Amino acid sequence: MIRIGILGNGQLGQMLEYSINDLRDISVSMYDLRAHSPSALETFIARVDIVTYETENIAADIVEQLEPHAAKLRPGLNALKIFQNRLLEKQALRDAGIATADFCAVNSLDDVHTAINTLGLPIVMKTTTEGYDGKGQYVLRTPDDAIPAWEAIGKRELIAEAFVPFLRETSVIACRAVNGQMVVWPMTENVHYEGILRYSLFPAPALSAEKAALAERYIRQLAESLGYTGTITLELFETSDGLVANEVAPRVHNSGHWSIEGAATSQFRNHMLAISGRAVANTQPNYAAVAMLNVIGDEGPAEAAEAIHNAHRHSYGKEARPARKLGHVTLVADNEADRDSTITELSGLLPDAVWPPQNKGL
Ligand code: AMP
Repeated sequence: MIRIGILGNGQLGQMLEYSINDLRDISVSMYDLRAHSPSALETFIARVDIVTYETENIAADIVEQLEPHAAKLRPGLNALKIFQNRLLEKQALRDAGIATADFCAVNSLDDVHTAINTLGLPIVMKTTTEGYDGKGQYVLRTPDDAIPAWEAIGKRELIAEAFVPFLRETSVIACRAVNGQMVVWPMTENVHYEGILRYSLFPAPALSAEKAALAERYIRQLAESLGYTGTITLELFETSDGLVANEVAPRVHNSGHWSIEGAATSQFRNHMLAISGRAVANTQPNYAAVAMLNVIGDEGPAEAAEAIHNAHRHSYGKEARPARKLGHVTLVADNEADRDSTITELSGLLPDAVWPPQNKGL
């Protein structure tokens, strides 16, 4: 029996647990990070063989408490520390030979001016920690934006990044076993609205074979450079001539939920297999086309999915709140046209601004 403990008990933790329900020799327990106390965490860690995490947003005092237990952590403590900090993250991407926007650290108003001089405008400035879903960000378009930007999110460590004129956002997800064996899921196109992922498409429409191969090479280089174990996600901007890495999640990711029904093995199950020390399994898609639509703020529009053949509705059992992820719906189809017409049937789930999709000049 292998006992796995997951830090975090949200929907990702729940889907990780559910994914290996049939494996009787793995037990799973979850730790509620919001109810943390040092003694509760100590007891939790003592009772499991492997510790994993469903989020990299783990407070510094908890990370410190994990140090003496680093041997139990999969993915490792190094991945957690690197990918909680946007500066360390960008540096790790560069070190692994992956293209990123030019960036620099910003610790003062003077540094903001220096960033404008060295990177040019526009600049996307972000807090190095605790930013997610577009929070803790400021786009500088003119030199006059320096003071308001520093007032709004500064007075703490920031990263300034050159603005990437991207055509669209994509991601690639891989899973690496302890012995280095690695599998990669096909890329998705990810469409956000007001900083929140609204839907992901496999295949990413009109994606070139060259870019798909580059993404796969990038994520393999990244996971290998870190000696990583488990599922890892690389978010990439697609530009007219290539791919530019934006950020990494050292975990399963919303843009990979389609793999539950859509691929031979899901991102969740492979993560659990990998951290248990087992081989990771086939990631081939089960269908020619798949879409994942998030259910945000209100579950009402997701009810329409019950009547749709080939739609799989997931509800996370959470209380409704504006902008909160309450569930997702996966649509499987024999071709992209059928997938897209089913999305249109369920377009009550999506803001008008993101469906039908805009012509991005691809
Ligand atoms: P992040 O929290 O880093 O994923 O950023 C949130 C969103 O801001 C991204 O999904 C992009 O739409 C946008 N963004 C972030 N960084 C950049 C950048 N360097 N250039 C252009 N857009 C960006």
